[in-house]
Amino acid sequence: MSNRQVITILGATGSIGLSTLDVLARHPRHWQIHALSANTDVEGMLELCRQHRPRHAVMASTEAADRLEKALREEGLETLVDAGTQALEAIASAPEVDVVMAAIVGAAGLLPTLAAARSGKRVLLANKEALVMAGNLFMQTVEDHGATLLPIDSEHNAIFQCMPPGYTCGQEPAGVSRILLTASGGPFRERAPETLRQVTPEEACAHPNWDMGRKISVDSATMMNKGLELIEACWLFHATPDRIEVVIHPQSVIHSMVAYADGSVLAQLGNPDMRTPIAHALAWPERIESGVSPLDLVGVGRLDFMPPDPERFPCLRLAEEAARAGGSASTVLNAANEVAVQAFLDRQIAFTDIPRLIEAVMERMPVIEVDHLDRVLQVDREARERAGAWVQRMGRQPA
Ligand code: NAD
Ligand code: MG
Repeated sequence: MSNRQVITILGATGSIGLSTLDVLARHPRHWQIHALSANTDVEGMLELCRQHRPRHAVMASTEAADRLEKALREEGLETLVDAGTQALEAIASAPEVDVVMAAIVGAAGLLPTLAAARSGKRVLLANKEALVMAGNLFMQTVEDHGATLLPIDSEHNAIFQCMPPGYTCGQEPAGVSRILLTASGGPFRERAPETLRQVTPEEACAHPNWDMGRKISVDSATMMNKGLELIEACWLFHATPDRIEVVIHPQSVIHSMVAYADGSVLAQLGNPDMRTPIAHALAWPERIESGVSPLDLVGVGRLDFMPPDPERFPCLRLAEEAARAGGSASTVLNAANEVAVQAFLDRQIAFTDIPRLIEAVMERMPVIEVDHLDRVLQVDREARERAGAWVQRMGRQPA
């Protein structure tokens, strides 16, 4: 790669954040790290500051920031420490930054990711919740401010790679008839449906193919992840939900496909390792080494495909309904899902309560337009309140 690029990583201590740092460390001459952010993991951030020497580190709370700053100074490290949403927006929009990796999980990532788009950065989008919550607003911001949007989610990165030459996210792709969104089916693809109520957080977080954060692991187990990805794909590739087909592919070797009007179907293949889409988006349109081992197709042996089971995975149906309804429906879906997943991880509700809670909240909130940030945040807040009340009413006491 030619010029040295300056990067901010939002959510640096997470699964995507660490994989990004792993790829960057393989190319030290090409990237300079401006800033790293984390929620509460002071120890994790301290270690990253030791290794990568960012100029700035941002924690979610001042309490965590104070602890980090003290530890850094004791070791003679000069990283500047700050806290809160405004500080996140500042490191995402700083003039010297070229690239922002948006890898905070959940709605907390929306404001800094929007700030990066508003500043015309190259935005590497892992934080799918931002797009599900505020797709219209986000895509409009990208377009208005000339930002470059590159998908990190492995399926969307695969679809992007299979798009016509010169394709820009948000445009309607010429000659494309369908998008085939592949799904592993998660850990419960074959588990007896009547036993799903007893699923524990540990079982839900043990994904057969991918090693990920806890929230997306639970989303994969309910298949809400595929539902969120369906909505994400609608925004990224200017598609209606009926143009997108979800296909179960247990080996996770094909990361998604694009079908063309002439009958051609293009697929992107690789080992299930997020360093491939991360390296692709970092270097795009060039290619760099990522550390991912070569795909051994003979070792894989076979590639299977089957339709998803709507009975077993009601979250997928709820997301499809939200995608079709448009407007605030997916904002509500996302907020209710975040509350439900947290309540499940905290053992307050059962695994099978997750879709029940989301459906109950969606039924009670009318679909409205959400073109402005204030509206998005208001709908998000109301959906969280309703979801929280559902947990209080229907949930069991924490263990
Ligand atoms: P993770 O839980 O491992 O990491 C999340 C990061 O966000 C951490 O650095 C954490 O400190 C930070 N964070 C969490 N809450 C925060 C808050 N309130 N304020 C500020 N920072 C906060 O999650 P992950 O698996 O790395 O996923 C990150 C995003 O990427 C998610 O949106 C996920 O859907 C998406 N994604 C992940 C994968 C994967 O393989 N892990 C694949 C595709 C998409
Ligand atoms: Mg994915």
